[in-house]
Amino acid sequence: MADTIFGKIVRREIPADIVYEDDAVLAFRDLNPQAPVHVLFIPKRPIATLDAAGPNDAALLGQLLLAAAAYARQQGFAEQGYRCVINTNRDSGQTVYHLHVHLLAGRAMHWPPG
Ligand code: 5GP
Repeated sequence: MADTIFGKIVRREIPADIVYEDDAVLAFRDLNPQAPVHVLFIPKRPIATLDAAGPNDAALLGQLLLAAAAYARQQGFAEQGYRCVINTNRDSGQTVYHLHVHLLAGRAMHWPPG
């Protein structure tokens, strides 16, 4: 897949406000937050979209979601609630083609989303 801005963040070529890292996952604050807490969880090994993921990515996708859930619990907003979003391809509004989980919290969310 083509390199993206998130690949540059993984390689520390551009700065980001990193809040969590392990062997497979990096999490950093969104540049344009849509909620008081807006953190992006990305796999260090790039996958362009959820649609491009396959059986070999199953464990990595699980790690991403569990990392987001652990962060929410550790930061103390799990009980109040939060939302995880994976925009996929054009109609979803995906703009960066390196799969990422948006973790949004700190305000009441609306449904259906826009
Ligand atoms: P998407 O629309 O692809 O689901 O989300 C991409 C997200 O990445 C957007 O919320 C956007 O604000 C964020 N973003 C884009 N470029 C950068 C960047 O260079 N640094 C950070 N921290 N976030 C970015």
